[in-house]
Amino acid sequence: MSGLLNDTQREVRELARDFAERRVAPHAAEWNARHEIPRDVLRDLGAMGFLAVAVPEEYGGAGLDSTCLALVITELARADAGLSVTVAVQNGLVCSPILRAGTEEQKRTWLPRLASGEVFGAYALTEPDAGSDAASLRATATRDGDGWRISGSKMWITNGGFAGVLVVFARTGGQGSGGVSAFIAEPGEGFEAGPELAKMGLHSSSTVGLTFDGLRVGADAMLGEEGQGLKLALATLDGGRITVAAQACGIAQAAVDLAVDYARHREAFGGRIARFQGVQFPVADASAKLDAARLLMLHAAALRDAGLPYRAEGAKAKLFASAVAVEAADVAVQTLGGYGYSAEYPAERLYRDAKITELYEGTSQIQRLVIARELWGADAR
Ligand SMILES: Cc1cc2nc3c(=O)[nH]c(=O)nc-3n(C[C@H](O)[C@H](O)[C@H](O)COP(=O)(O)OP(=O)(O)OC[C@H]3O[C@@H](n4cnc5c(N)ncnc54)[C@H](O)[C@@H]3O)c2cc1C
Repeated sequence: MSGLLNDTQREVRELARDFAERRVAPHAAEWNARHEIPRDVLRDLGAMGFLAVAVPEEYGGAGLDSTCLALVITELARADAGLSVTVAVQNGLVCSPILRAGTEEQKRTWLPRLASGEVFGAYALTEPDAGSDAASLRATATRDGDGWRISGSKMWITNGGFAGVLVVFARTGGQGSGGVSAFIAEPGEGFEAGPELAKMGLHSSSTVGLTFDGLRVGADAMLGEEGQGLKLALATLDGGRITVAAQACGIAQAAVDLAVDYARHREAFGGRIARFQGVQFPVADASAKLDAARLLMLHAAALRDAGLPYRAEGAKAKLFASAVAVEAADVAVQTLGGYGYSAEYPAERLYRDAKITELYEGTSQIQRLVIARELWGADAR
């Protein structure tokens, strides 16, 4: 794939790979067992510019492009998917909507702090009864003097357990998509983050429910225009899906690498298991599909970098790459046999971590819906 990247993109990928191999991979099992990522690792990622890769330098970011962000997320996910989602949310779901819709003051207040890692952010769209159907969300923001009070519940919020700032979506008008507005809110009185949710994988990342009970925000907290919140939420997810595809590629790469390495050393029936076609072919298939997934991901990122439409391409990249991650992780477990099922090797963690890429930021069914709408337009509704 190197031939498809420019010098800067190659350099960023090498930096991220080096960091992931030295600072992340050796500790990933321990962080997942402890359900946390050390703060100094997150701060060091900030110092490298990896918490705000595509944010312009004038706002404290690295001033790079979406392709660089995808490459960073791929390399981090190869070492620890939980860390990669923590970083992907900061970049793609928090910095990105602030950059897209924020006032100059909002950008100057929040982006440098997010970029350095002084503050972590969360993106609070999903509710206990509104996931795929985000337009049915029920949280409200009601006028209070010149500001607003936010009430309602949010569910499955990544980084929510330690976030210092929240991009939160709440209803300011009537029913439907036009009644939703976005806010930049700081935790305070009338806000509570719930306990960590027990989940299948991504154990090193924080995922919690949030309760808003009249949290007050000022007039300057609204992000974008009143009633335009859902549009902003969905446009944000268009970009976020490229980073989920990147995460899937990283998990799949780790799975293929592990299977190749293990089969080279494991012996059965008088020789290495790598000589069996039954072992080779599933890994070969996964490797070919991984290359295709990476191309879809880089294509969607390149369109975004060129300022061209990329909604359907991002959905295709996520749809395909997530299925490849699930398949490759399964192949890794199978290749390692009983050891694939053991916590002694990372295969079982990859298997658990891969599944989420088919679920969040739109399930695979929702990606197909996005693609179908691009194909049929209004006739798909
Ligand atoms: C670990 C984790 C981290 C997350 N992080 C965040 C976060 O940081 N911020 C945030 O806001 N959210 C987050 N989410 C929420 C995530 O994006 C949602 O779980 C996801 O969008 C699916 O919504 P749901 O769980 O309500 O499923 P539902 O919408 O209830 O879907 C259930 C099933 O119905 C299917 N379905 C629904 N509608 C259709 C349709 N029209 N056509 C066909 N099939 C359909 C779905 O594909 C799925 O199979 C996270 C979730 C997890 C598990």
